[in-house]
Amino acid sequence: MQKELLSHALMSRRVHHAYLFFGPSGVGKKTLALEVAKTLLCPESFDAGCNRCRSCLLFDASLHPDFFLISPKTGTIGIDEVRDLIERLALKRVLSPFRVGLIDEAEKLTEEAANCLLKTVEEPPEGVVLFLVTSQVLALPGTLVSRCQKLAFSALPEELVAKYLEEHEGLSPDLARVLAFASSGSIGEALRLARGMENALVAVRSFFETVQEGDIFRAGSWLSQHREELYRILPLLAGYLRDALFVRLLGDRYHRMTVLSREDRCLVERLAHLDSGALRRALAALGTFSEDILSNAQWDVACFHFLLKLRGELS
Ligand SMILES: [Zn+2]
Repeated sequence: MQKELLSHALMSRRVHHAYLFFGPSGVGKKTLALEVAKTLLCPESFDAGCNRCRSCLLFDASLHPDFFLISPKTGTIGIDEVRDLIERLALKRVLSPFRVGLIDEAEKLTEEAANCLLKTVEEPPEGVVLFLVTSQVLALPGTLVSRCQKLAFSALPEELVAKYLEEHEGLSPDLARVLAFASSGSIGEALRLARGMENALVAVRSFFETVQEGDIFRAGSWLSQHREELYRILPLLAGYLRDALFVRLLGDRYHRMTVLSREDRCLVERLAHLDSGALRRALAALGTFSEDILSNAQWDVACFHFLLKLRGELS
């Protein structure tokens, strides 16, 4: 609905001067903001960039003279960057009907920078359109949020993420489904998890076996070797446990079982022999372990506690 309003605004060129796109990361907020910016800048077409004119070609080459992007890789967005953006936006248009600014990861604006931006949003120069994109809308000052036209994005359906991964990334259907599930509907997160994934998947399956056999020292040394990759290993472990819990609770009505690969189904069925309390406690132990790691707890202690608990629940 909101997206329809936006495209209506585009068609009539009656656009708001500031938009806020918010929602989980990796669901296409920045992609859509860029698309809309390109459309606004294109003097040839109203509903999408024509992809032929000078404006569109320059935009695709990141060289458009009427478009300004702030895209922080790390750290914060300071007042100097925002002032610079505002000054540039106030200059005369070069070849497009609008001048457009886009601030990605707007939650990184410092308070000072956000206040500075607020003035422009309240009294925008003629023909200026600003896009703010954020995955943490609550981190932005309410005054700024309230003055923007808001567009909420939500997590994508699992099937859609899987389809995207298959078609655009050439992943196998099995892997695409696992990643779509583990990423909770975020293409960006799924892609992050995907790097070097095939191997991790095999290793994760045998991790459960090792723990169930009771060999927590081998399991511990495997975790230690893969410390840098825990961000993708832990969601996978959790995914298997959740699947098993749902099988336990829903039986045949848990439709995800039909889309799992043979190996995954085997593992999930084996785990589903445990009672649901044990599976829940194993998931909780995994959660505690993740928190321990994030809070820089002593690795050996956190790891040993986790494995001891997991072995207790899984065997
Ligand atoms: Zn064009």
